[in-house]
Amino acid sequence: MARYIFITGGVVSSLGKGLMAASLAALLQTRGYRVRIRKFDPYLNVDPGTMSPYQHGEVYVTDDGAETDLDLGHYERFTGVASRQSDNITSGRIYKTIIERERRGDYLGATVQVIPHVTDAIKAFARAETDDLDFVLCEIGGTVGDIESLPFIEAIRQLKNEVGRGNAISIHVTLVPYIAAAGELKTKPTQHSVRELAALGVQPDVLVCRCEHPLPESERAKIALFCNVPETAVIPALDAKSIYAVPLQYHAEGLDSEVLRAFGITPSSPPDLTRWEEIVERLMHPEGEVTVGVVGKYVGLQDAYKSLNEALVHGGIANRVKVNIRWIDAELFEGDDAEIAAHLEPCHAILVPGAFGSRGAEGKIASVRFARERRVPYFGICFGMQMACIEGARDLAGLPQASSTEFGPTDEPVVGLITEWMGERGLETRAANGDLGGTMRLGAYTAALTGNSVVASIYGSDEISERHRHRYEVNTSYRDALEKGGLVFSGMSPDGTLPEIVERPDHPWFVGVQFHPELKSKPFDPHPLFASFIAAAVKQSRLV
Ligand code: GLN
Repeated sequence: MARYIFITGGVVSSLGKGLMAASLAALLQTRGYRVRIRKFDPYLNVDPGTMSPYQHGEVYVTDDGAETDLDLGHYERFTGVASRQSDNITSGRIYKTIIERERRGDYLGATVQVIPHVTDAIKAFARAETDDLDFVLCEIGGTVGDIESLPFIEAIRQLKNEVGRGNAISIHVTLVPYIAAAGELKTKPTQHSVRELAALGVQPDVLVCRCEHPLPESERAKIALFCNVPETAVIPALDAKSIYAVPLQYHAEGLDSEVLRAFGITPSSPPDLTRWEEIVERLMHPEGEVTVGVVGKYVGLQDAYKSLNEALVHGGIANRVKVNIRWIDAELFEGDDAEIAAHLEPCHAILVPGAFGSRGAEGKIASVRFARERRVPYFGICFGMQMACIEGARDLAGLPQASSTEFGPTDEPVVGLITEWMGERGLETRAANGDLGGTMRLGAYTAALTGNSVVASIYGSDEISERHRHRYEVNTSYRDALEKGGLVFSGMSPDGTLPEIVERPDHPWFVGVQFHPELKSKPFDPHPLFASFIAAAVKQSRLV
């Protein structure tokens, strides 16, 4: 049977619980254990798919087409275990399912209540599909004390009893703030937070204390005393130089051995940390650096491009260079060539990422033009591929009116809405005026690559599977016109109807993809497109 590790947060949000869960899972893997991480989100949205990137950061998409919390991206990047729909649940989804059942009469007239109905649903979610695992890590979003998270804490309490004390532990991540005026770290907020959790029936086994200064022995002892845990189970967690240094840092502080101790497990052999040591070595000792301009929309909030940011870092790891990302607001460029040159000339490569809506689109099209004309490496992802096609149509195919139907009615719909396509599971359809939630082409789809294309050589394969999240597609009726303009369709859906990749063979590096390759990149396995794009940026940096 799998063992459970429940992770809660206290005092404040943004303590890096997700990163802690991901790092702990990675450390358990270095000891040969099979792990899976799950996220419980207490908010009432059914999924994060319709939440603003400004509020909630990126929507992470899984192979099986779930729109999930960005923490699932961390989980996958740190463990290499592909996340699934069944790894992320929200209160909204739980209530929706329960209310649908109630309407169908499934509860046979019983009163439907938070305990047991909601808590049972939470427990069933935690326990589903765990047969082949050694550890299931469950991270509870939010902070202990929030009204929304109460049913989740109650479910943990029950589950700990059901699986037996030796089979489930809980870790509480708290803040130990530094008060500059007193020159001291303060343990009181941690004490209060643990007391609050204990009052709900959950005594933490391990405390992870985020602090800006090293935690003195005396404070560690104090926390242990007041919070009812062994001193060794108080793990200090200082900020790390890179998120990929976090697993080694937690290991040095004894997190993984303390977790095993809490389960009563004596490790049979030391962990194999080489994967993480190699990554940190490359990150800390780069042999050069490049600047990539990302021309986007949500540039004020980098969490909105979390996976993209990480995939670029991974491309740097692959090439042993530091990647500096210049986040550029596309709206700055509308109609202003001097502004474009000022922002893009210092960049060794240009990337236009995924986006929705017309705001900033003209600036992105102008960025494509700049990259094409100046022969700067260009990577267009999803919206960035669509803009590359519109630019090609307008400037090289004699279609000045070329546009996307996403921006309103147009006579030249180079990018348009499709309502039917062949999916892996047969014909899929969506209504042109359907709901915003869950109506996109989502999840993993196969693409067939042209044998002698640039992308086939980058992937080293002529068949790939990548994750999608979009409503609009490049319209194949314009294929001939675009190809005459030098833009080659080098990847298509297996039935040949949906363009997946375009490239310009006459350009140093110009690739547009309809999918999101950043979602599958890992520090120990950088995505081939990002590795190749950064290699092109390195070449470009030697030219200028
Ligand atoms: N808005 C575009 C579409 O829906 C692109 C989406 C994206 O970049 N993820 O097709």
